[in-house]
Amino acid sequence: MFKTKNHSEFIQVFKKKRRDTNEYEFLSEYISSNNPIKVKHKNCGNEFTTTPSSMVRSRFPKQCPYCSKTKIKNSTEDRIKKEVAVIGNHQFDFIKCSYENGMHKLTLLHKTCGGELDVYRNNMNTIGLRCPVCHKNVRNKITKKKRKKIKMKVEEVSRGKYTLLTDYQGYNEVVEVFDKEKSVHKVITFSKLMKDIKNSYETQEAFNQSLQSWVKVYIQKESNGRFSLKSDYKGYDKTIEVFDHHLQKNIQLKYASLNLKIKKIQLMNTLDAELEAD
Ligand SMILES: [Zn+2]
Ligand SMILES: [Zn+2]
Repeated sequence: MFKTKNHSEFIQVFKKKRRDTNEYEFLSEYISSNNPIKVKHKNCGNEFTTTPSSMVRSRFPKQCPYCSKTKIKNSTEDRIKKEVAVIGNHQFDFIKCSYENGMHKLTLLHKTCGGELDVYRNNMNTIGLRCPVCHKNVRNKITKKKRKKIKMKVEEVSRGKYTLLTDYQGYNEVVEVFDKEKSVHKVITFSKLMKDIKNSYETQEAFNQSLQSWVKVYIQKESNGRFSLKSDYKGYDKTIEVFDHHLQKNIQLKYASLNLKIKKIQLMNTLDAELEAD
């Protein structure tokens, strides 16, 4: 709290406390430190009402509300533009962004075909971008990682029996595998491969246990130690419990949602690293 007797004394304090005093003009007389005063931001012409004490406080003195809002808006938009560039492999141009239902909705232009698309920022960050006009998917870097993970999963869950020789293309697509026990190459759909692996276990229980320990290691490793599995893995669409080491509490969610969460954290880390390197 400060005490000044009149307007000119207040102006003196104001000039002493701030470096940007020439940006502001007072349109009404100072009455007391907490009686509203009318201020004009000369840079933009915006007029606002605040208390004299908020104009001279040492921590976060009052700024022009119009300009500080625009500043935040610009920095968010900058960030979004960079996300579009990185995730879309520089194939999309940013047109505009609006805020709807608590989410950023982006309008983008696919440079190759000139088609426009609307996408939620949240979706773009988890599943990448897809142009609806030419149906072209721009996969983000996580997909390459996913293939690597599936390769690891096959090795581990099959207890070293199978090695994937070609990339995973989808659950019902064929892959080439090497069967180490029989020393033969096989071309087989991925779903059939998983069934074979399952059948190589004496019981369903034993298979689940093996999958369970794989999931446990996988979650810990992929989330960089943020999540640990607390309950049994029962399937992709089933709810599991994990301990979130950041929030220091247990959370319950579907395994599929946990995967999206992890994917998003990874993507944000990749983005941050790329934006820093800019
Ligand atoms: Zn302003
Ligand atoms: Zn297109």
